[in-house]
Amino acid sequence: MNEQPGHEPQLDTSKDSPWETALAQLDEAAELMGLAPGAHEILRAPKRSLSVSVPFRMDDGSTRVCQGYRVHHNVTRGPAKGGIRYHPNVDLDEVKALAMWMTWKCAVARIPFGGAKGGVAVDPKGLSRAELERMTRRYASEILPFIGPEKDIPAPDMNTDEDIMAWIMDTYSMNSGYSVPGVVTGKPVAIGGSRGRSGATSRGVMYMIFSTLKSLGIAPEEVSVAIQGYGKVGGHAAQLLHDAGCRVIAVSDVDGGLYRERGLDPEAINRHKKEAGVVAGFPGADPVSNEELLELECDVLVPAAIEGVITVKNADRVRARVVCEAANGPITFEGDKMLSERGVFVVPDILANSGGVTVSYFEWVQDIQAYFWSEEDVNDRLRQIMERAFDEVHTLAAEKHLTMRQAAHWIGVGRVAEAHLTRGLFP
Ligand code: NAD
Repeated sequence: MNEQPGHEPQLDTSKDSPWETALAQLDEAAELMGLAPGAHEILRAPKRSLSVSVPFRMDDGSTRVCQGYRVHHNVTRGPAKGGIRYHPNVDLDEVKALAMWMTWKCAVARIPFGGAKGGVAVDPKGLSRAELERMTRRYASEILPFIGPEKDIPAPDMNTDEDIMAWIMDTYSMNSGYSVPGVVTGKPVAIGGSRGRSGATSRGVMYMIFSTLKSLGIAPEEVSVAIQGYGKVGGHAAQLLHDAGCRVIAVSDVDGGLYRERGLDPEAINRHKKEAGVVAGFPGADPVSNEELLELECDVLVPAAIEGVITVKNADRVRARVVCEAANGPITFEGDKMLSERGVFVVPDILANSGGVTVSYFEWVQDIQAYFWSEEDVNDRLRQIMERAFDEVHTLAAEKHLTMRQAAHWIGVGRVAEAHLTRGLFP
């Protein structure tokens, strides 16, 4: 791989890792917009990467050690912002990619934050609640010098939730000697969380699907939707889209999925999942694998689980007219090319799932001002920000004959590059 920007970076995109996908997207945007080689080179490298060892006590008295990370990709436009993921596959390259996408995402939404991400390589399902808390508090302690309301503000991602954010907030506050609610977002409302944050990413995904359908002249009541991943984002999106009149025909989690042509009722699935722990086995629906779900005949496909699920191997079999990337990086660079050649309308992750960071920004603003908004206010402002971002990306895509992803990267990368240029290169 040639890592020399300005000298025609030659990335081997056949490898499909999230980091390679993220670099290929940046390189393409840099070429399309004629980005100066110096700026391109700065933006290719994360500003700082922290790798930490996280030892913690298991319930049986033994010690376990996990690997953790926190990466700041860019902080030129404001403090670093990004979620924390607990997953066995977490590694530095994945965290770097997710941090880079956060940088562009904040810029596309005009949120004054830079991009960060963190993670621990662990399967939290194998830990008791007490072990999870001890691991979280130790990880938070290890990344303590990196985070803070003015420096870097973590949030939930895969397998992390508001309880974990509360433990991080408490760990940070105990070390400070006073309460610091603004150090994390996505925390419970009781300790300074924002109303509307838990469903914000999904609500934003719904707004982006509606903006897309409007541009295509299709009514939401006319569409069928398939959703991969039934967690915080996918599960909530299923409910919101169902409530808005869309026909949710398929959903899945890591253990498999469900399909019913005439539509599923998310409330009934939630009741089933509460008891069974998984969506599979829901009565009255056909089983479908995660691979099959991506290839179902539907109008809108919403990947809301992990990276790299649509690649050169299956992109030609995706039959949806619209793919809205609720997950980060679900389509590889070459897979994306195949979809766009086939005329599939892809709403890119850095636009589609920016509702989460937008309301995280609202939460941080509310914490700093110690003045809290109504859920109505939160949802209203979220809709305005996301619809403006969609319009800006859509307009540029039309003007320059770009895909929505290319246009979103052009705008995101452009705003960050402009901030660099305006501030100048230190010293
Ligand atoms: P989550 O842990 O709440 O849910 C993840 C879901 O995906 C679960 O249903 C899980 O079973 C399923 N899943 C995991 N591995 C899978 C696999 N290999 N195949 C199919 N399904 C699988 O996580 P989440 O917060 O909903 O995040 C989902 C995606 O959305 C991630 O890509 C995340 O980065 C992205 N995202 C989340 C937020 C947020 O606010 N939580 C914001 C922006 C983007």
